[in-house]
Amino acid sequence: MTARRVRTRIAPSPTGEPHIGNMYAALFCKAFAEEHNGQFILRIEDTDRTRYVPGAVQMLHDALTWLHLEPDEGPLTGGPFAPYTQSERLPLYHQLAEQLVTSGHGYYCFCTPERLAQLRAGQEARHEPSHYDRVCIRLSSEEVQERLRGGVPHTVRLHIPHEGSVTFDDKIRGTVTFDAHTLTDHILLKSDGYPTSHLAIPADDHLMEISHVIRAEEWLSSVPYYVLLYQAFGWQLPVFAHLPVLRNADRSKMSKRKNNTSVTWYRNQGFLPEAIVNFLALLGWSHPEGKEIFSFTEFRHLLTLERIVKSGPIFDTKKLEWMNGVYIRQLSVAELAERVQPFLETTTIERSYLERILPLVQERLRMLSEVSTALEPFVRDPDPTALPFATAIKRVPLPELRQGLELATAALEQLTTPDAGQFEERIRTLAAKLGWKAGDLFMGLRVAITGSSASPPLFAFCEAIGWGRALHRLHAGIDALPTR
Ligand code: GLU
Repeated sequence: MTARRVRTRIAPSPTGEPHIGNMYAALFCKAFAEEHNGQFILRIEDTDRTRYVPGAVQMLHDALTWLHLEPDEGPLTGGPFAPYTQSERLPLYHQLAEQLVTSGHGYYCFCTPERLAQLRAGQEARHEPSHYDRVCIRLSSEEVQERLRGGVPHTVRLHIPHEGSVTFDDKIRGTVTFDAHTLTDHILLKSDGYPTSHLAIPADDHLMEISHVIRAEEWLSSVPYYVLLYQAFGWQLPVFAHLPVLRNADRSKMSKRKNNTSVTWYRNQGFLPEAIVNFLALLGWSHPEGKEIFSFTEFRHLLTLERIVKSGPIFDTKKLEWMNGVYIRQLSVAELAERVQPFLETTTIERSYLERILPLVQERLRMLSEVSTALEPFVRDPDPTALPFATAIKRVPLPELRQGLELATAALEQLTTPDAGQFEERIRTLAAKLGWKAGDLFMGLRVAITGSSASPPLFAFCEAIGWGRALHRLHAGIDALPTR
């Protein structure tokens, strides 16, 4: 076997929103190819025309680009092995199917869909695995020619050996063996002239010189068919590495019903691409030093296929949120200001003000989409009649709270250029004089000034919105409190 240049690919079907599972495979393919100075290819498997969704190829490409996993070759990028879309490669598959028939590794099948449905129903009733009964392999070549000439609809099937086994190596799963009698003479070319994946995948992997087929475990059972096909053509097998299937929290296969699987959804929620990439890298693979936070570059330097586990990792959205928060905190204020732009729905916030207030909420953001709500208190005065004094402060009756806040306001108004130390000291002294816990007085101020009991540090908040505005809010809050 000759060593080849590294070429990897993902081969998604354009059937809707770009799936996070495809991006997971793309990450491993891209990292592996890039680390070995190879190429990563996007190939579109659109041979099932009934499931084709217009626009899906563009969305796939955009999702890859957003995650910085751009393909080196693909339908929108071009490349030396174009076309990269299977529906544009039909003559190639026809030619290969004919070659297989000629060499005896394939045969024409004229069975009607009705006959096949009947066959399947019978097998199901007898609890037999469904398989084709090979009636058409027994047709004489004259009969075959006659039917072909007569335009009888037909398919081409792979001729599976009747006994023995098919064995291949998988970098993640080790040696995998399938008994030949568990395989069926799969259709390679359908009667509509389109290939099935059992022909198109191995054919294109060969023709596009793919060296490593890194993809999801759910495709493992189709490999014996590829192996037989590769043998029939005398082609060199690629290296196989079947990634563990991503799972929902209940360990079922990750699905739309239990998890968000669309990349667009994660993007719209304000997940950072670098956090998603880091998170996906940790699914089924672990950093040799046990690190949880690392860049794509670090990942690709350390990635070996042998380090990937077999069993399905759980896609834990809470962990992704945590990780996203870590990445948000690592951003410079200018960078964060840039990234939150699409999420600032309400008022436009002046850039310099935005950069002043963002550090105060950065710590608590888990997703960029939370930014509007987090910044709300900085841009809009709270409704004084809706302030949560009563729920936030249990120990002080509201009329007393009013008096305390009036005194606090007076004390603060005396400060010409307040600093954090003075502010704190004044409030503490006053609380002691009133016989209150200082926390209650701070909470009263916090509720009046920010509109909420959970907010960024109070002094910094007042500085950010300006002391004049803070005092104005304080007066409005006090006016809303009962006098008795
Ligand atoms: N077409 C398959 C998919 O939609 C990919 C099969 C492969 O990677 O070989 O995921």
